[in-house]
Amino acid sequence: MRFDVISLFPDMFSVVRDMGVTGRAHKQDRWSLAVWNPRDFTHDVHRTVDDRPYGGGPGMVMMAEPLEQAVNAAKAAAQAAAALAGRNADRDIPVVLMSPTGRRFDQACAQEFAHGDGAILICGRYEGVDQRFIDRCVTHEVSMGDFVLSGGEIAALAIIDSAVRLLPGVLNDAESALQDSFNTALTGLLDSPHYTRPEEYCGLSVPDTLMSGHHENIAAWRRRQSLALTAARRPDLIESARQAGLLSKADEKFLKELKPA
Ligand code: SAH
Repeated sequence: MRFDVISLFPDMFSVVRDMGVTGRAHKQDRWSLAVWNPRDFTHDVHRTVDDRPYGGGPGMVMMAEPLEQAVNAAKAAAQAAAALAGRNADRDIPVVLMSPTGRRFDQACAQEFAHGDGAILICGRYEGVDQRFIDRCVTHEVSMGDFVLSGGEIAALAIIDSAVRLLPGVLNDAESALQDSFNTALTGLLDSPHYTRPEEYCGLSVPDTLMSGHHENIAAWRRRQSLALTAARRPDLIESARQAGLLSKADEKFLKELKPA
């Protein structure tokens, strides 16, 4: 998997390249990263990448040309790398703009990225990017949620992190993504609470079931915790699991007792 990122702040990407689970996977060549600075694709002494908006209004807009040239350079490099690795170099690489107006990112999107070979991720800054660049070059738009960031970098970091940790073998068994919120082992529900040593902390003890060593009871306790938490905070996820036929009779019985009609 290879990510090419277009960003005015390339240093921000050391976070996923060098640290934690994604850093370890990068060291093991499970994925690669190239960051392209639109400033390197300007032709004036000031290396201008932004200008005032037509029609007036506050702020600045990222100019189309440096972005398009950066995307072209990224595409050529990604294709050359694919050819070198004996993979199909002609495939269309997704060009994904980070944007509050895009499709809301979720675990299903992360899975889609994890199943692909990679993508070009565009990080906007200022008021955003010239629409003509979007019209000509962008294939997908992705939003982190209904809030506004100062730039697309944190969104791109979130995409890379969530996709790389889903690659087979990147997490070891103990870290398995299957057990996480939204994932298959939890039938798309929220995760249950976790406890570690000491057994008693500030007068608070660990729930008895978790100390019992009885695996079936522990699994049932965790399932009920997941169901109760999800029913309280994200009833939409309960409904999706139900529609997908992922709730057992025992699940339904527990939910019924939880919320008597
Ligand atoms: N004027 C724009 C926001 C610009 S914020 C608007 O109101 O829609 C500057 C840049 O930050 C954007 O171009 C985008 O790349 C990034 N960004 C901001 N919020 C984001 C979000 N919720 N998801 C993804 N990217 C975001």
